[in-house]
Amino acid sequence: MNTDKRIALISVHGDPAIDIGKEEAGGQNVYVRQVGEALARQGWQVDMFTRKTKATQSTIVQHSPNCRTIRLIAGEQDFIPRDKLFDYLPAFVSQLRQFQLENNLQYSIVHTNYWLSAWVGMELKKHQSLQQIHTYHSLGAVKYASTEHIPPIAKTRLAVEKECLETAECIVATSPQEKEHMRKLVSLKGNIKMIPCGTDIQRFGSVSRSEARLRLGIPRSSLVVLYVGRFDRRKGIETLVRAVSRSIFPGLADIRLVIAGGSRPGQSDGIERARIETIVDEVGLREYTTFPGQLDRDELPYYYGAANVCVVPSHYEPFGLVAIEAMASRIPVIASEVGGLKFTVVPEQTGLLCPPKDDLAFATAIDRILSSPTWEQELGEAARQRVETMFSWQGVAQQLSKLYTSIAAESIKQPSLLSA
Ligand code: UDP
Repeated sequence: MNTDKRIALISVHGDPAIDIGKEEAGGQNVYVRQVGEALARQGWQVDMFTRKTKATQSTIVQHSPNCRTIRLIAGEQDFIPRDKLFDYLPAFVSQLRQFQLENNLQYSIVHTNYWLSAWVGMELKKHQSLQQIHTYHSLGAVKYASTEHIPPIAKTRLAVEKECLETAECIVATSPQEKEHMRKLVSLKGNIKMIPCGTDIQRFGSVSRSEARLRLGIPRSSLVVLYVGRFDRRKGIETLVRAVSRSIFPGLADIRLVIAGGSRPGQSDGIERARIETIVDEVGLREYTTFPGQLDRDELPYYYGAANVCVVPSHYEPFGLVAIEAMASRIPVIASEVGGLKFTVVPEQTGLLCPPKDDLAFATAIDRILSSPTWEQELGEAARQRVETMFSWQGVAQQLSKLYTSIAAESIKQPSLLSA
């Protein structure tokens, strides 16, 4: 059985082959897909395992000759919120092992994503000789500190996150801030390496403002404030709406607030969307606001391209792909001063940072940038430079590939007694 350069990426709830931006599909799905596809281009055989959430979904999606998504049946073939998925993980593990057996597959490296997959990786390790790399995407210890609602699964999650940090061969932190959180809030044990998330620097930044506005029907004179992302309370969309209503522009200029992402009403994120729409009405921004809904990969560059500024008002953000997508598109970012956003956005150079939930600070930041077109352009150019230097997927995948190779080499030096 050839395990050389064969890797499994596990992402139980974040299907890398699904539409992004609605329900719970966001940065993790993009990360797994981009990492998988980029690694395949670097010669790895990549299998990405996820949970099947609709009976009509294909079991296998081939992204490229060496990269595929494999959907396993674990629980109902329907959307199940991530906080309710833990009970289905044993079924996921047994389906994965069954798939390996049927296809005579063994993986020397398993890269798990989010705590649910961390558990899957730790279970697999009990039966197989493999090296586990893990990316958290979100840390329970940080998340629960920024929310009033602590779900019943919290205790289990915190325990799994600690065990994984202490036992995985390597943890990939996507920002220095995330690494610091792990050390302060999770454990002093374990091997952590910082490799950031990346973005597609060819796709983002490829559309000029005039081309983008022509396509979207936005006048040249408009001032466009953009949000892109899921509808989830921790994303802080309410702060953005209140900030725009407090900024000096509504009424003075042709301001457009574009809030992109989210499903149609009736799905799990519909409640937050309805709540945001109510606030938009309440603060009198209805005539200035549009909700284009979920955007696909081809539409996104036009929305970024058309914007004057992109706002990422999250209460907590482990990395925040949207910030680097906007930056790659030469758009200044105004973000909450939290998590990975403190790493990607350089205040006064590529955008501005504000305390989370502080609508007045966000309003001031929006006013500062929109009232100075020259500065807006300078910030955008510096943002693009920063992304080119630090956050291209190709560069990120090269760093991951190097990490896998060195960990696989270590495992050959210290062979395990376990077999599949
Ligand atoms: N996204 C998308 N379409 C949408 C909304 C969001 O493709 O309608 C993508 C967005 O471009 C980004 C990801 O979803 O790549 C969101 O990632 P981020 O890390 O910003 O947030 P998360 O969803 O992980 O909290």
